[in-house]
Amino acid sequence: MNRFKKRILLLGLVLAVAGITYYGYIRRSACIVQPKTYTKTIYSFLGAPGSGKGTLAEQLVKDLGFKVVSTGNLCREEIAQGTEKGKMIAEYTRSARLVPDEVISEMLENWLNQQKGDQPIILDGYPRTKEQAKILAHLLKTKFPDYRFRVISLDIDDFEKIVRRMAGRLVCENKQCQTTTHVSLLKEPNKFICEKCGSRLIRREDDREEIVRKRLADFVKNNNEIVAFYKEAGIPVESIDVSNATPESTLEAFKRII
Ligand code: AMP
Repeated sequence: MNRFKKRILLLGLVLAVAGITYYGYIRRSACIVQPKTYTKTIYSFLGAPGSGKGTLAEQLVKDLGFKVVSTGNLCREEIAQGTEKGKMIAEYTRSARLVPDEVISEMLENWLNQQKGDQPIILDGYPRTKEQAKILAHLLKTKFPDYRFRVISLDIDDFEKIVRRMAGRLVCENKQCQTTTHVSLLKEPNKFICEKCGSRLIRREDDREEIVRKRLADFVKNNNEIVAFYKEAGIPVESIDVSNATPESTLEAFKRII
């Protein structure tokens, strides 16, 4: 074997060793980092109505296999079943008043108890009061101690943007689907049909402008109290500025912080 061939052989050997080492590193980081980052975590999403919590949650379910529970959807499902509890809840949701803390917290706890597996869970729209934040902290400590808990706040600088956004919001009327979209995103502007399941898209009663303004005012008061509670409890509230965000940029911002 001449010198040239020997060099080529040596170079090939070095490249092979480097390749194997790099592949091993990638495999190890995938194994170590992914489960740590994604599994056994409960994320609570704070944010004004219309700030995009539901949309972000939907994307995380689709892209990363997260689970999501929206307490608003739990209420609508209970109402649709026509139970006594559902009738009582409807009294509150119709006028966009908050359902009593103990009622909504029990519904959330029941949902959490039914979950199996290690996927991360998003709480969309819970807690909405300081009392709910306290109940949740106790619940996690006593029943879900092996879950990490993170609070993510979707911040928006101008509430008028929210009023405009919500005025055009559409929801799939199929209770199993409940996909949300916006009139500006419809492929055919006059066809109010859900792209996912083909059911009718409707406007929610509580997305009417005067109700949206009341919901925003209630949100500000309650959210300040929740954030103060977490500050006192030493639980960081991690913010994403969604003032000028698109669903895609919000998703990217979320992926960067987890
Ligand atoms: P949403 O779909 O999140 O806007 O919720 C719709 C309605 O459900 C609210 O206006 C409340 O009446 C009720 N609701 C949802 N989540 C909660 C909660 N965490 N606490 C009290 N009421 C809630």
